Amino acid sequence: MVTRKSRREIDQMRRAGRVVAEVLALVEGELHPGVTSGHLDRLAEQHIRQSGGIPSFKGYLGGGRYGKGPAAFPASVCVSIDSEVVHGIPGDRVIREGQIVSIDVGAIVDGWHGDGARTFVVGEGRPEVEALVGATRLAMMAGIAAAVPGNRVGDISAAIEDVGREGGYGIVRQFVGHGIGTEMHQDPQVPNYRTGYRGMELQPGMCLAIEPMFTLGEADVEVMPDHWTVVTADGSLAAHFEHTIAITEHGPEILTSV
Ligand code: MG
Repeated sequence: MVTRKSRREIDQMRRAGRVVAEVLALVEGELHPGVTSGHLDRLAEQHIRQSGGIPSFKGYLGGGRYGKGPAAFPASVCVSIDSEVVHGIPGDRVIREGQIVSIDVGAIVDGWHGDGARTFVVGEGRPEVEALVGATRLAMMAGIAAAVPGNRVGDISAAIEDVGREGGYGIVRQFVGHGIGTEMHQDPQVPNYRTGYRGMELQPGMCLAIEPMFTLGEADVEVMPDHWTVVTADGSLAAHFEHTIAITEHGPEILTSV
């Protein structure tokens, strides 16, 4: 079911979104060659909790359920390096010069969710890598620009796909954007490619997480034996950007910004 949020509820989501944006800015400042992905995760969790939030990925089983055990996501943020697309598990791995590192952050503040991601190039990246990262961000912004009342979900998808095709990138299809609110994943799904359906009409009060994932190779992905880490099947590099937005009568408002 698609929910439309009131102005007061969008205010609440703005608070969660701000915490997500603050964590991404914090991590960006700490992302140097030699740091471990686990260090970034600890910083992120500390900031989320100090802000009165809960890290929404920790203990996540999928499908809106939480628990313990090997199937539960063990960390507060996802850190996905190079050919890892999304859902990388932070740990002892040391980040090196020239790698690309995608950080995905989810926070719950007073029951409302924010969800955002960015891909960073560590130090100097090769031109084609910088271009991949730039195009993925541009696709997210194009998708957001299409999120206006009267358009349809499929218009967001088409705007993202057009940027990906223009650059000749692999456009990941197995993972898609989503509605968001009192749960991290709500209806509708927001694919990053044309599905053949225009989808539902966008209306003020709808909140969406828009999150393209592009690769330097093919679009196929696989899940690693750790149950979570999604990698490109051909080993090519991948980038991921995500903002949580609210659709207002004036157009889209990015909630995961400071
Ligand atoms: Mg998301």
